[in-house]
Amino acid sequence: MRNCDFRIVIDDRPGQPPNAFQTLDDRGRPVVGFTLALIRDARNADELAFVLGHEAAHHIAGHIPRRQDQALSGALLAGVLAQAGGATPDEVRAAQNLGAEVAARSYSREFELEADALGAEIALVAGFDPIRGSGFFDRLPDPGDRFLGSHPPNAQRKAQVAATVRRLTGG
Ligand SMILES: [Zn+2]
Repeated sequence: MRNCDFRIVIDDRPGQPPNAFQTLDDRGRPVVGFTLALIRDARNADELAFVLGHEAAHHIAGHIPRRQDQALSGALLAGVLAQAGGATPDEVRAAQNLGAEVAARSYSREFELEADALGAEIALVAGFDPIRGSGFFDRLPDPGDRFLGSHPPNAQRKAQVAATVRRLTGG
C-alpha cells in the first residue's frame, strides 16, 4: 500500500517556468509541487485537477524507483556491450552514461502516458472533467517525436485521456 498522504507545495521562486513535479520528502511522504506560472497559466479547475492527478499517478505507479532501476539496467547493459567490443575504461563509462540516458528517456514516455491515464481517472472520480483538463496540452510546446524525446507528443497524450474517459464512462 502506497502512502497517499500527499503534501501539496507551491514553488514560488520567481522566474520558474510552468511546471509540476512529484517527489518524496526525507520521511518518505509524497510531495506534489506546482510552480506559480503553472497555476497562472491554468484556464480552469479541471486543468489543475488533471495536473494534480497526473503527478499523483506517477507516485502511485511507483515511477521514481522504477525509473532509477531502468536507468541502471540500461547503464549495465551498455557497459557490458562496450566491454565486449574492446572499449577502454573511459569509453565504457561514456557508453554507460549514454545507456542510462536512453533507457530513462524511452521509459519516461511510457510513464507519462501511464500517468495521463491514471491521472485522468483520479480527476474524473474526484468530479472534474479530464478532457477539458487535458486542454492544457494545447498550450504546451509539442516535444514532437524526436528519438530521444522524454515526453510523448501532446496529441497522443490527449488521445490517451479521451480513451480513458470513454473506458470509464462507457460513452
Ligand atoms: Zn509526468
